Amino acid sequence: AKDLVEFRNLKTHFRTTAGTVKAVDDVSFTIREGETLCVVGESGCGKSVTAMSLMRLIEAPTGNIVGGEIWFGGKDILKLNKKEMSQIRGNDISIIFQEPMSSLNPVLTIGEQITEPLILHLLLNRKEARKKAIELINLVGIPRAEEIFHAYPHELSGGMRQRIMIAIALSCNPKLLIADEPTTALDVTIQAQILDLMRDIKQKINTSIMLITHDLGVVAEMADFVVVMYAGKIIEEAPVLELFKDPQHPYTQGLLKAKPIINQEQERLYSIPGQVPNPIELEDNCHFHDRCQFCMDICKQKQPPLRTHGNAKHKTACWLYEEEAKRQ
Ligand code: SF4
Ligand code: MG
Repeated sequence: AKDLVEFRNLKTHFRTTAGTVKAVDDVSFTIREGETLCVVGESGCGKSVTAMSLMRLIEAPTGNIVGGEIWFGGKDILKLNKKEMSQIRGNDISIIFQEPMSSLNPVLTIGEQITEPLILHLLLNRKEARKKAIELINLVGIPRAEEIFHAYPHELSGGMRQRIMIAIALSCNPKLLIADEPTTALDVTIQAQILDLMRDIKQKINTSIMLITHDLGVVAEMADFVVVMYAGKIIEEAPVLELFKDPQHPYTQGLLKAKPIINQEQERLYSIPGQVPNPIELEDNCHFHDRCQFCMDICKQKQPPLRTHGNAKHKTACWLYEEEAKRQ
């Protein structure tokens, strides 16, 4: 498949009174057409900031993209003007968030909110927009679409609202759907339904999905390819089966152990000892060294390079796999 999005050495930093937070620090990866790519990691690792950078929603003066490029359909997103960017946001890339209630306008009906982008971006007239909106409500698996069209957000359940958000996100046939923890606020049953829906829709309209999650269960269900982030860096990336079969980075290995066992009354949650490092003024070393049982001297001094150690599509940034470290 062709490349759709390419992040090249992206650096998005935030200035705080305590110092600089390198929220995304030299991150490169590619999303291919029709692919579901999961970005996984604990909160604060830079997953959302990566997506926000792609949408150009980083707010100056605190937040700034200080380096790198983001290529989308032959254009460097970071070089586009406001008008070109809002066109991309309206037509090519859609985003859905964790809490649909905060994204929906409480005083407008569902119908008004679905038809608005259709009128604005696809230039449909009211009647066409209404017809398409009803189709979209059906597409996301909500019965009695006509009734829902006239309902207000508070009249729907959380799961239904997330379906509506997906309908709105799909209204312009985006090439890329970004979903930032789309099921985190939902209970387990509804969560499974929403994931099913997203998979279903991806097959029907062949959109690419960038799915941001902290939940490896979601990754296992959804991903073609996985990027694991830790403290602003990609520490491992691989096709999903490869990653689950052969996790290389100690952090990924820890995350896999932390995966809750589903269908068991008592969930055993394994948590990785220690905490994510203070994000301010991080050093150029392995950011996981405090928590790693394999930590060597070099880990505290130098950043391990992200590279392949066999399978060309599987890359890991860890000194355990480097000759240089073994010689020390
Ligand atoms: Fe652990 Fe060192 Fe690998 Fe970092 S580079 S994960 S500290 S072994
Ligand atoms: Mg987030």
